[in-house]
Amino acid sequence: MTPDHGELLYEGKAKRIYASAMADRVLVEFKDDATAFNARKRARMEHKGRLNCQISARLFELLEEEGVPTHYLGLAADEETWMMVKRVEIIPLEVVLRNIAAGSLCRETPIRAGTAIEPALLDLYYKDDALGDPLLTQARLRLLGVADDARLSAIEKLARKVNAVLVPFLAGIDLQLVDFKLELGISKNGDLLLADEISPDTCRLWDSRIEDSNDRILDKDRFRKDLGGVMDAYGEVFKRVQGACPNPRNYL
Ligand code: ADP
Ligand code: MG
Repeated sequence: MTPDHGELLYEGKAKRIYASAMADRVLVEFKDDATAFNARKRARMEHKGRLNCQISARLFELLEEEGVPTHYLGLAADEETWMMVKRVEIIPLEVVLRNIAAGSLCRETPIRAGTAIEPALLDLYYKDDALGDPLLTQARLRLLGVADDARLSAIEKLARKVNAVLVPFLAGIDLQLVDFKLELGISKNGDLLLADEISPDTCRLWDSRIEDSNDRILDKDRFRKDLGGVMDAYGEVFKRVQGACPNPRNYL
């Protein structure tokens, strides 16, 4: 059953955002659509919405317990692809933290894939599909005025805290957190909150039980690289996360 919702406020590549009965809360519906390379590659993948919603819910709860403020309020009880969140004004930055070199870092620099990065590398991208989410320099960040220095240091602190919570948690279920992308927003009260989602769409996760550099991939790189078994990989991540965090809270 679809939860009671108001008007569709925004439809993105992977989720729909709906108004709720309260102005400061919105409902998020996770879709079965997969996109990569700025939506130049697309597919429908059955169960993806449910898996990403359920994985995200549990990771948001874990982060909340560890003191990271997030937008998450709870799952919609009998609808596995919906969650209630605090409405925020999204800061137009994709905040990427890298523990191991992969993806664009290896295409754009001579750093070899798989190289450990210590301390983790923070990369900020300007969130704008039409511009292809370009990597920002410090100077361009200032020029754009997306966030002042105080906010930027709060963003970095929050991203590093997320990493400090997720790395050991995921290592405990034999998942290596290679890198991840966060979106942050400002709530009605002016609080900086972790928003959007945390899922195999937005994290690179490697199975530490497997040596082979393709077989170990349990995230959207399976889709990007046409490796097959995309939903089996997301399902495996869900199974392990659920084993460690069985009962996420319900909102409705
Ligand atoms: P996109 O195609 O832009 O990646 P998604 O399909 O991921 O979009 O849909 C989610 C959209 O909703 C994103 O633009 C994201 O920034 C935004 N969003 C995420 N969390 C919140 C929130 N708590 N309040 C308002 N907007 C949000
Ligand atoms: Mg998105």
